[in-house]
Amino acid sequence: TRSPIPPAVSCHLSTGGGHGTSRLSARATEDSVCLADAPGWRVEATVIGSSPQAAVVTSGDLTVLLVGEVKDSDGPEAVLRLYRDLGPWAFSQLSGRFAAVVVHTSQSHITVSGDHAGTVPLYMVHTWDGVIEVATEAKVLAGLSERGRPILGTDEVPGLRGVRRLRAGTCVTLQARGVGRFQDTWNVPAHRETVDPDEAVAQVRAVIEDAVRWQARDEMTTVLSGGIDSSAVAATVKQHLGGVSTVTMGTDRSDEFDSAAVVATHLGSSHREFSTTVASVLAELPFVIALTECCDPSINEYMLPLSRLYREIPAGSRVMTGYGADIPLGGMHRGLADMDLEELIVDDLSTFDGLNELSPNLGTHLGLWTCHPYWDRAVLQRLVTLAAGLKRRDGIDKWVLRQAFSDLLPAETVLRPKLGIHEGSGTTSHWSEVLLDQGVPSERIHAAKAQISQDVFDLVVVQAQDPAEIDLAAVTAGIVDREQVSA
Ligand code: ATP
Ligand code: MG
Ligand code: MG
Ligand code: MG
Repeated sequence: TRSPIPPAVSCHLSTGGGHGTSRLSARATEDSVCLADAPGWRVEATVIGSSPQAAVVTSGDLTVLLVGEVKDSDGPEAVLRLYRDLGPWAFSQLSGRFAAVVVHTSQSHITVSGDHAGTVPLYMVHTWDGVIEVATEAKVLAGLSERGRPILGTDEVPGLRGVRRLRAGTCVTLQARGVGRFQDTWNVPAHRETVDPDEAVAQVRAVIEDAVRWQARDEMTTVLSGGIDSSAVAATVKQHLGGVSTVTMGTDRSDEFDSAAVVATHLGSSHREFSTTVASVLAELPFVIALTECCDPSINEYMLPLSRLYREIPAGSRVMTGYGADIPLGGMHRGLADMDLEELIVDDLSTFDGLNELSPNLGTHLGLWTCHPYWDRAVLQRLVTLAAGLKRRDGIDKWVLRQAFSDLLPAETVLRPKLGIHEGSGTTSHWSEVLLDQGVPSERIHAAKAQISQDVFDLVVVQAQDPAEIDLAAVTAGIVDREQVSA
């Protein structure tokens, strides 16, 4: 039987005898669904927020709760069927953008997994007295943090003692009492393949087409900058659905309207330009940090404009982005020897876990479901494993991607140099200027941004304060004072 649970962003489970009531923070006051109720064994899901992408299905002694989507499948039913055959190994075979919890009543254990790259974050606490709580946001588990014990396959969230984040590409099985175990469902490939260039181009095109195909829907919005990554996605959507709807954003400081318009005109898309102040983009910071639960200042700068743009997209929409292509292709590292490019790509791929750049939470609180085709399992696998000489070739960065879409896009788009969203929107330079204007020395700007991000993280994640209540100017003033003292 499938019981559609109310739209969900976050789910919470508790297991163990006698622990029938939710221990979550005040946010978890919404509907609870009982997933399993047996002597000494009770599992509940508490739904927080709103998203169209959560469902529970039960069959016999298995219950699956799925947040997100499994490629080409009926969702939780597909997970349940495969799990019945393979147990945790099921997650090595599934492609999608999801987090899942499988409750195995007859075994009295739960299995927790994300997709191959952990694009839907999962956090958990396992207390010494046998309560397990799982949530898609760390902050809702903060109340239990003092009593959490280590869990294999997870890492402690900085600042939230006892709260553990499931590693990307990892599946954990836990018993209310007793140790758990974990296994890999995917690993970032370490090997590289020298493929015939024409063949590599054809393969890249094919995997991206397939990733767009399984995630595309009518009435979907593609967020378009006019850069090669989002333009290739928009072109693929157009080819697949026969039409495409695009939106581009700019600020009073900077925009990419002309580049996006070239693509929109070429594709005949239903196109919209949205313009706002760069100050309103920076004002997103408390929301961004509350939703990504990451305090890396560079990542925050990428997220700020997207967060602002998402507010302009109607609730209930599906959004497709070109986010993430630069990580496996090394798009942001220009003008290097192949060996150095390879080193930097390896470095980026060994540090993405936990940054939550691809987390759906940035959209789900607005009722949006975001899709990032470049981090589809097969696309990421293909891009990562290509030799550096195919990622950049003839001095052209992201060569294989540009070649793969050269027949669908104008030449000027195919050849357009990379421009990061934080640059094209003026976000980075504006934030720097705000700090310079307040007297932060230029060599301390990055440190000041990092400290502001850390302080906001403490407020909106560790203390779970409402991001709408955060006074960013006050936080900034506090940091500026400290920076000047140390300068
Ligand atoms: P490139 O990396 O070559 O510049 P890109 O602009 O598509 O290509 P990023 O700059 O890495 O990619 O930006 C990440 C994604 O964010 C884009 O693919 C796009 O989906 C979205 N995006 C970036 N800038 C804008 C913008 N100004 N308006 C709307 N969406 C944007
Ligand atoms: Mg792994
Ligand atoms: Mg890009
Ligand atoms: Mg760009």
